[in-house]
Amino acid sequence: MGHSDASVATHALIDSLIGAAALKDIGSHFLNSNENFKKNKGEKMLRVGQGYDLHKLKKGRDLILCGEKIPFKKGLLGHSDADVATHALIDSLLGAAALKDIGSHFPDSEENFKNINSLILLKKTVLILKNNNFKISNVDLTIVAKEPKLAPFIEKMKENIMPILNIPKTAISIKATTEENLGITKKGSCIACFSCCLIKEIKE
Ligand SMILES: [Zn+2]
Repeated sequence: MGHSDASVATHALIDSLIGAAALKDIGSHFLNSNENFKKNKGEKMLRVGQGYDLHKLKKGRDLILCGEKIPFKKGLLGHSDADVATHALIDSLLGAAALKDIGSHFPDSEENFKNINSLILLKKTVLILKNNNFKISNVDLTIVAKEPKLAPFIEKMKENIMPILNIPKTAISIKATTEENLGITKKGSCIACFSCCLIKEIKE
């Protein structure tokens, strides 16, 4: 029993070090009454994650963002459905949990993932987090595209990922920006996405 983790050996070592230096004792430096030195068992630790992805636009492909098919003359090129927004989101979730990245969990060399709906990969990612005792708090995505206009599809995108993330709609932010004909998307040859998320560690 004790205010801290009650490691008697470490406490004795600390006391001997402080004693040798004639600098009082452990109690006078690390007061029992100080909240900072309490056990953190059961404490929910917050962890932030960020993700980024970019795919090339090509004729003859569907444009899918957060599981929503957007009417457009071109679509994103990739091994899966190339849903750049969902990929960035997955990478931010894995990053927050320090569980590597999308490529190591879902390699593009694998035939199983060819043209796969990326929402299935998102579901698998949420399960990986759950199995590692993490719960999602909120997500914030910024999609970078010269065209098409994405505003009419944002609500649908949120509704697609909401049941998978298992968080309220108010905890999901999806924004779109055009880069004003500058930056990486100025030629309209690609779409990129940045994602940021917060997850909570659930300790037993
Ligand atoms: Zn991708």
